[in-house]
Amino acid sequence: MAIQQQVNKTLRGIGASPGIIQGRAFLVERYKVRLPQKRIPALQVEEEIKRFLRAIEEAKSQLREIKEKILDPQVRQHAFILDVHLMILDDQMLIENTVENIRKRKINSEWALDLTLEKLDAAFKTIEDEYLRERRNDLHYVAARIFRNLMGKKHDDITKIKGKVIVVAHDLSPADTLQMQLNQVAGFVTDIGGKVSHTAILARSLGIPAVVGAEVATSLINGGDLLILDGENGEVVINPTEQMAETYLERQRRVKLLEREILKYAALPAVTRDGIRIHLQANIEMVGEIPSAKSHGAEGIGLYRTEILYLNRKDLPSEEEHYRTYRALAESISPGVSTIRTLDIGGDKFLSHYSQGNEMNPAMGLRAIRFSMKETDIFRTQLSGILRASAHGKLRILFPMISSIEEIRRAKTFLEEVKKDLLRSRIPFDRQIPVGAMIEIPSASITADLLAREVDFFSIGTNDLIQYALAVDRINEHVSYLYEPLHPAILRIIHHVVQSAHHAGIPVAICGEMAAEPAYVLVLLGLGLEEFSMNPIAIPKVKKMLRKVTVTEAKALTERLFQLTTATEIKRYVRKWMAERFPGEFD
Ligand code: PEP
Ligand code: MG
Repeated sequence: MAIQQQVNKTLRGIGASPGIIQGRAFLVERYKVRLPQKRIPALQVEEEIKRFLRAIEEAKSQLREIKEKILDPQVRQHAFILDVHLMILDDQMLIENTVENIRKRKINSEWALDLTLEKLDAAFKTIEDEYLRERRNDLHYVAARIFRNLMGKKHDDITKIKGKVIVVAHDLSPADTLQMQLNQVAGFVTDIGGKVSHTAILARSLGIPAVVGAEVATSLINGGDLLILDGENGEVVINPTEQMAETYLERQRRVKLLEREILKYAALPAVTRDGIRIHLQANIEMVGEIPSAKSHGAEGIGLYRTEILYLNRKDLPSEEEHYRTYRALAESISPGVSTIRTLDIGGDKFLSHYSQGNEMNPAMGLRAIRFSMKETDIFRTQLSGILRASAHGKLRILFPMISSIEEIRRAKTFLEEVKKDLLRSRIPFDRQIPVGAMIEIPSASITADLLAREVDFFSIGTNDLIQYALAVDRINEHVSYLYEPLHPAILRIIHHVVQSAHHAGIPVAICGEMAAEPAYVLVLLGLGLEEFSMNPIAIPKVKKMLRKVTVTEAKALTERLFQLTTATEIKRYVRKWMAERFPGEFD
C-alpha cells in the first residue's frame, strides 16, 4: 500500500520527553502489515507454494545476516532471540499447515499463513507456561517478516539504524527500545502510549525527545520523511517547509539556551528560601545513568527500576549479576543512598511482542510484588543480590504494588528468610537495611496509617496511583485527558499518605513523574513532602524552583487548593500563581 507523501503536515500527540529535533524518519512497521486475500486457480497452486517457501528462505537469510552484523558484544548476548526466530522458520507445523491451506483452499500464501497463525494462536492460548506463551509473540514477529517478503516490502530493521534518525513506530516496548542503538536515535514517535508509559519514561531518562499517542503517525509518515519533533508540545511536522523548519529551529536554540542556564542549578543545594532542606534524588533504570544523575545534582537514587535486568534475554539474571549491578550502584552513589525496587514486571512493561500472555487487565493482573510472590525463586535471587550488595554502600529495598498489610508482611518474611540464609553462610550484608513500600494502589494509600507501622519508609508512585485512583489507563491516549495529577482526589490521597508517614515518624518520598514538574512539586511541598525522586534531567529545574519559594507560601497555596472543587479550577489556580510568582520562568 503506497502511502501518500505528506508535506508540512502537523501531527499532534502527547509530549513525552522534551526537546526539539529535526531528523529523518525510520519507520518500524512490524505490526502493521495489511494482508491481501486472494483465491487462486488450481493451476497456480504449486507456483504459490514455491512462492511461500521462497519467502521463508529469504527470511532465514535475512535473519542470519542481521545476526552476523551484530558486533557490539553487549547486543550480541541477546542474539539468541534470532536463533529462536530461525527455529520457528523451520517449524513443520507452520510450513505444512500453510502449504496445506494453499493446496486445499486454493488461496494465496498471505491468507494461508494468516489462517495458520490463527490456528497456532488458539493453541498458544491454552499454554500455561509463561515463557512458552511469550514465544507466540516471536511467532508473530517471524510471520510479519514472511508477510513482508511475500509482499515485496522493505524491512526497516531496528538493528539496522544508521545515522541519527527519528524512530516512528506503532508501539515500542522497553525491550524494543533497548535493542536499538540508542546513540543513533534522535527521537521517538509512537501511535499509542501516554506520558507515563515506560517507553516515555525511558526516553526521558535518556534525554531522547519523544512524542507518543500520535495515533496515525505510522500511517502518515514514510521512512525517510524529514520530521521536526517537538517533545515538549507533542508535535510532529512531516516534511516541513523551510519557513516552518526555521521557526522550530529558532525555538530549539532558545530551549537549548534555557537548558544551559538551568543546568547551573544542578550543583546548588536544594534549600527553600525559608531554609528547609529538600532531598532530590534520581529515578534510573540502568547503572549507565548514574553519571547523568550525578551531573544533574541528584543526591541519591530514589528509585532504581530493576526490570531492565530481566528484559531482552532468555535466561534470568543470576544472583551474582544482581549483586554486581547493585554493588556498582551502591558504590558509585556512596555516601548517598540508593533505593532498589524489586522486580515490577507486568502492566505496560510487556507491551508488543513481550506481552505477557492473555491477561485481560494486565495493569491489575500478575504484576510486580504479585509476580515475585508467585515466582519465589526469582524473588529470592533478587533479594539475595540486593542484600549482598548492601555490604558495599547504603541501599534501601522498595516493594512495588503493595495493596495490603498481609502482602507487605509476606514480602518481609521472604526477606527475613533470605537474610537467615546469608547469615548461615556468613555472607555480610546490612542487617538494618531499610524496607519500604510503594504507595501506588488506593488500598495502600487509604490504609497508609496501618502500613506505616510495617515499613521503614514510603515512596509514593503517582504514575500508578493516579491510574488506579482515577481509573485512567496510564498508556491509553484516548483517556489521557482524564489523567490529572491535580485532581482533588489525588491531592487528598497524597495528603493522607504524608500525614500517616509523619505521624508514624517514617520518611516519605514521591517517585512518580509528578515530582518532575515544578508546578506539581510546589503543591507537593505544600502537602508536606520533602523528598522527591525524578528523572535526572528534571532535577535542575525543580531545584531552581525550590530555591525560590518558601515552604510557608507553598503550604498556603495548597490550603487554598483544598477549597477548590475541580481539577480544572486547581490547575488554573496553580498556573496563575506560578505565572505571577515566577513570570516567564517555568512556562
Ligand atoms: C509509579 O507508579 O509512579 C512509579 C514510580 O513506578 P512505575 O512508573 O515504574 O510504575
Ligand atoms: Mg508504579
